[in-house]
Amino acid sequence: MTTQKHSFQAEVSQLLHLVTHSLYSNPEIFLRELISNAADAADKLRFEALNDNALYEGDGDLRIRVSFDEAAKTITIDDNGIGMSEQEAIDNLGTIAKSGTRDFVSRLTGDQKADAQLIGQFGVGFYSGFIVAETIAVESRRAGMPASEGVRWVSNGTGEFEVSTIDKPQRGTRITLHLRDDADDFLNGWKLKSIINKYSDHISLPVQMEQEEWKEAEEEGQPGGMVKTGEWETVNQASALWTRSKKDITEEQYIEFYKNLSHDFEAPLAWSHNRVEGSTEYTQLLYLPAKAPFDLFNRDKKPGLKLYVKRVFIMNEADALLPSYLRFVSGVVDSADLPLNVSREILQESRDVRAIREGNTRRILGLLEDLASKQRTDAQSQEGKIDIGTGDSTPAPEPVESDSITDVVDKNATPAADAAATFADEATQYARFYAEFGAVLKEGLGEDFTNRERIAKLLRFASTRSDTLSVSFADYQSRMKESQKAIYYITADSLSAAKGSPQLELFRQKGIEVLFLTDRVDEWAISHLDEFNGTPLQSIAKGAVDLGDLQDEEERKAAEEAAETFKPVLERLKQALADKAEDVCVTTRLVDSPACLVVKDGQISNQLARLLKQAGQ
Ligand code: ADP
Ligand code: MG
Repeated sequence: MTTQKHSFQAEVSQLLHLVTHSLYSNPEIFLRELISNAADAADKLRFEALNDNALYEGDGDLRIRVSFDEAAKTITIDDNGIGMSEQEAIDNLGTIAKSGTRDFVSRLTGDQKADAQLIGQFGVGFYSGFIVAETIAVESRRAGMPASEGVRWVSNGTGEFEVSTIDKPQRGTRITLHLRDDADDFLNGWKLKSIINKYSDHISLPVQMEQEEWKEAEEEGQPGGMVKTGEWETVNQASALWTRSKKDITEEQYIEFYKNLSHDFEAPLAWSHNRVEGSTEYTQLLYLPAKAPFDLFNRDKKPGLKLYVKRVFIMNEADALLPSYLRFVSGVVDSADLPLNVSREILQESRDVRAIREGNTRRILGLLEDLASKQRTDAQSQEGKIDIGTGDSTPAPEPVESDSITDVVDKNATPAADAAATFADEATQYARFYAEFGAVLKEGLGEDFTNRERIAKLLRFASTRSDTLSVSFADYQSRMKESQKAIYYITADSLSAAKGSPQLELFRQKGIEVLFLTDRVDEWAISHLDEFNGTPLQSIAKGAVDLGDLQDEEERKAAEEAAETFKPVLERLKQALADKAEDVCVTTRLVDSPACLVVKDGQISNQLARLLKQAGQ
């Protein structure tokens, strides 16, 4: 047998040096990388076999087998995928072809500690085997090639590798890791299984391990031990829930999956499961929780979104995939386009990620619109109407992306079996959602220009007409007086403070509805919204409130006269309050109260000023 020596491409040597010499923060990911390569090889075989069924060589049951040998100190990953020819092994395992790893190498700083961190984020594919192995042997035969044209590739990860021709009857690739002494703890069935479960559970291919049994010692006094039975068992689920067709997933399964994913004990409020096709392909399974987590108002809180690439787990809390104002959402995104070794930095820059983020945002807003349209308002329940929206009749804007969405299942979690319960549940879901997350959703007004309109439509307030958070801008508009020119609101610390505000008096008297904005974020959020559907928004605590035609000519005259009459009084008040008030004037806005404080137009309000002061600014 002839053996040829080859040198690694310079970048590979550099990478290998780093892999073998750096403290590696997360060594177990080697298994994820190798299993994912095996799964890729199966995908490639499936694809090529579409045109040439003979490539299966009579064996179409694709699987990955992981085994270990304590005595030899080896771990073996064996697949019956596409395999590699000799030249392919030389090219694929001796050079860095893929852009992700090249990018990784280009970012290396030479500082071992920083680089070790980088490697933890990237993963470096095949070469991560050298984290735990001193020598790696790859035996492979490409599907469709004769058994005699197998290849054996061996390297100790230092500059060179050797290649020889071998006989390999079994199609596919078999990778044997000769572990370093300090990696002994991976020679353990339980440990390997748990790593597979952690990272590769949702690989759609069965990942199998040899069954083990406890066996008592033959001789008395000797310890017993685990003995392999020779039977292979599948240790992963081998089918990711989100990749299954919606009709094969029960409501309970969706709910269980959510609980697992989010560590939430409660069932979710609603979910949306879609396969998005088009220029960017991905599957999204997004859940709306029923209860806010304790840290919801921490703006650093990340959404509970897990990112998978082709069913391989990549990262938790993938915050690039959702805007911050939707951070209460949890779920899974599985992309077909992103590289497996994608880092958070790359995520921020990726065009595909932007498309996914926009798609997720649209989907969640759509889900919320759906819930809102089923929400029963107080008025409706009195009139016995139920399934009507809250006056929100403008259709949602068309998605900017042209991606067609197929296999859509938007689901409101209604585990209750009986229809009446389901019905009642649906009619209150939006109110429940809003009570928990409304304040966060509002941040979107300042954060998401594209969807500002849609978000504004989803907002609900208390008002002079309703003590509950149930009045939408559209409701308000539908009740506006004929000559009313603005949507009036007042910001306050609490509902009772808002209701007791002297600025309301005139509006009460005239029967004009005023919205109460009592959330901490309201003032900031609403400052990003000048108008709703053509009607300007106006704070009644700012500047001169011009009620236009709603105000009598007589009232205005009386005010002007009063201003003249009281001029001397006003002057004296102004002097007395010189360091406290900028101006003192006669107003028509009060009915019962003798005086009130207002802020000039364009200035921050009393409420916001208090907030900023509290925040120490
Ligand atoms: P990536 O998987 O991102 O391409 P890797 O470093 O993980 O990068 O693998 C490098 C290449 O080696 C793969 O692209 C593939 O061509 C080849 N390869 C690795 N493992 C296998 C395998 N089990 N079967 C067939 N080819 C493989
Ligand atoms: Mg790989």
